[in-house]
Amino acid sequence: MILFKSHCSEINMICKEKILIIDDRTIHVRPIKGARGLCLRLTPKGEIRLSVPYFCLERQIKTFLEAHKSWLEAHLSCCGPRHFIDGMSFHLGDLSLTIRHVPQARRGVWQEGEMLYVSGDAEFLHRRVCGYVKRATRQLIQREIDRLIPRLHRYPTGFSLKDTYSRWGSCSSTGHLNFCWKIGLTPGYVIEYLVAHELAHLEHMNHGPAFWAAVGQLTDHRADAEIWLRRHGREVLQFD
Ligand SMILES: [Zn+2]
Repeated sequence: MILFKSHCSEINMICKEKILIIDDRTIHVRPIKGARGLCLRLTPKGEIRLSVPYFCLERQIKTFLEAHKSWLEAHLSCCGPRHFIDGMSFHLGDLSLTIRHVPQARRGVWQEGEMLYVSGDAEFLHRRVCGYVKRATRQLIQREIDRLIPRLHRYPTGFSLKDTYSRWGSCSSTGHLNFCWKIGLTPGYVIEYLVAHELAHLEHMNHGPAFWAAVGQLTDHRADAEIWLRRHGREVLQFD
């Protein structure tokens, strides 16, 4: 009897998605058709993702990771979930708010000028600020939709806030929009662009020239918003 062994497992070739544990780190490995080399990426949540050519050898992966160890360590140290803390400043649309923890007060979360006061135990501060930001974000999105509605040809059926780490928004074929709650943590013109982007998908479910023309009808801020998102988007999406 001839026993055929799987070609892949026999010499540790990668021919499907798999998780490798190397140096106590979890590496999500994904083979990509036609890829010429290995490509290392960190998600905003700090997951390590590595795309590799089909039939890449595990030992090639180990050598590659060894060569990029210092890059990985430097970037992992500033990765991972971010939390709101006392004294932190952040955008809430066009406002710049600074958190002030007032443990003895019994008023929940409230805003006075540019200060955001948070009462209660420090361990609840992050969750309380998240709740406040989510409520404010819902209003900021609704305000943008209401403002842009006169320029729309199709209307959204509603919107929901989602807890996402890499996407700012999406639009379903039924016209329902989803937004990451963290879009409230960006300046007003960025919120305008992100809402306009999803509204334009009501008419064009792609990123073709007609779609970008529709975005241009809704906002003048595509270019500056994209620059802001490239510079700061990742750190905003890291909030947990
Ligand atoms: Zn899009």
